[in-house]
Amino acid sequence: MLDRIARHIEMRCSVACRVSAKTDIPEYAYDERRCQYNSTTILKHLIGCCPDDVLGYLGVTHVDLFVPILKYVFGLAEMEGRCAVISMCRLRPEFYDRSPDLNLLEERVKKTALHELGHLLGLTHCKNRRCVMYSSVRIEDTDIKRADFCPTCSELFTWRVDTCVTVHGFKGSEVQG
Ligand SMILES: [Zn+2]
Ligand SMILES: [Zn+2]
Repeated sequence: MLDRIARHIEMRCSVACRVSAKTDIPEYAYDERRCQYNSTTILKHLIGCCPDDVLGYLGVTHVDLFVPILKYVFGLAEMEGRCAVISMCRLRPEFYDRSPDLNLLEERVKKTALHELGHLLGLTHCKNRRCVMYSSVRIEDTDIKRADFCPTCSELFTWRVDTCVTVHGFKGSEVQG
């Protein structure tokens, strides 16, 4: 599935995308009180091991993620940075007592990945519910939007990719969702 998502990102972002070797479960980010994993801690870890030659570095995990102020997050990205993390935990239909559906899961992962990559490229949330940059608070939000940017976000994204290909590596701030 990660390979298919990588191809989707390549097609949408016009940059080469490779899937790195699998890493261990991020135990260092586990919060015993919440029984979830702190996405901010994972993001810091990713920033520390992000390869030099990449525009963006996206962690994909099965574990459930949170930020201290929210019950959960689907993903977290450094605004205008290079690292992001997404969780498949709440993208699985099984999480909502539905039957497993790999196609639906893949669509949701594509949307969540593109959304966080949008943040890496400096895009903020979009008011268009069909745009991939619409903020997903609930899974229904993810299902309504398309795995693509609206014309406005698309133009900005393409422009940002073009400029970031030559000027990257600057530090950004955190955004959630
Ligand atoms: Zn948009
Ligand atoms: Zn967001």
